[in-house]
Amino acid sequence: MRILDGACRKWRANFHTHTTESDGSKTPEAAMALYRGMGYDILALTDHRMVTRPERVPEGLLLIPGIEMDFFHQGQVVHLVGVGMDASIEEKYRLCKTPRQAIAAVKRLGGRTLLAHPAWSLNTPAYMASLKGLWGAEVWNSVSTLPLNAIRADSSSLLDVTAAQGMVLNLFANDDTHQYDSELGAGWNMIQAEELTIPAVLEAVDQGRFYATQGPEIHDLILENGRLSITCSPASAIIFYSNQAWVGGRSHMGNGLTKAEYTIESRDAFVRVQVMDARGRSAWTSPVAIRRD
Ligand SMILES: [Zn+2]
Ligand SMILES: [Zn+2]
Repeated sequence: MRILDGACRKWRANFHTHTTESDGSKTPEAAMALYRGMGYDILALTDHRMVTRPERVPEGLLLIPGIEMDFFHQGQVVHLVGVGMDASIEEKYRLCKTPRQAIAAVKRLGGRTLLAHPAWSLNTPAYMASLKGLWGAEVWNSVSTLPLNAIRADSSSLLDVTAAQGMVLNLFANDDTHQYDSELGAGWNMIQAEELTIPAVLEAVDQGRFYATQGPEIHDLILENGRLSITCSPASAIIFYSNQAWVGGRSHMGNGLTKAEYTIESRDAFVRVQVMDARGRSAWTSPVAIRRD
């Protein structure tokens, strides 16, 4: 199975952005112009509790309707980013008493829901594993680190524990742009969609045809004959993670590595790959669930 294909076009996306409509420092128009100027193809404006609807969208940018919905659960912050539904989610969200109701409401409107910044929110793996129907979670949230926050931008370890508990989630990197400062363009997603339309983008992610990154590129990701192989831009480390604590030969290090391979172990329930470049920037594939037929 070829999950990612280096020959196919990939579109650059940020699915989590705030504007002056809530607590962001740029207007929707300025935010869209900035992201388009940085080469983004896809943007979701996800203001708190509302769907921001600009009148005009820059040429070449696909604007996906978005909202950030917030809840508390036994001391945990639960922030859900809904994308791809229409503005009637605002009213529906106000009636939702639990995150699961909000996830279901977004789904009924044809959208998808991702869990924002789980490490920042101090979400527990057991609680995350109970949130059925999620599209995925942010492995990287650009604003959840210095200088604006403590260092809780990277949720990868937490999401490995969640995946080991049976909830294998897609991994996204989003800016969660507020200040339009150091978080701007610090993490994004490359979507291998057949065309630049909302249904095609949602479908590509549904099928796992995308990756999250801070810069490194992933070209091919292939699961075949019990092996997961990857090709990428020059890297200093390529690391394979699974639900097992110890596996030999899972980490490859060197100068300018552009490929690596992992032999699936009999007890692997999922495998995911992290590519790190010489500057310490990462790209993350989503976990690939291992099926045994
Ligand atoms: Zn949030
Ligand atoms: Zn946010």
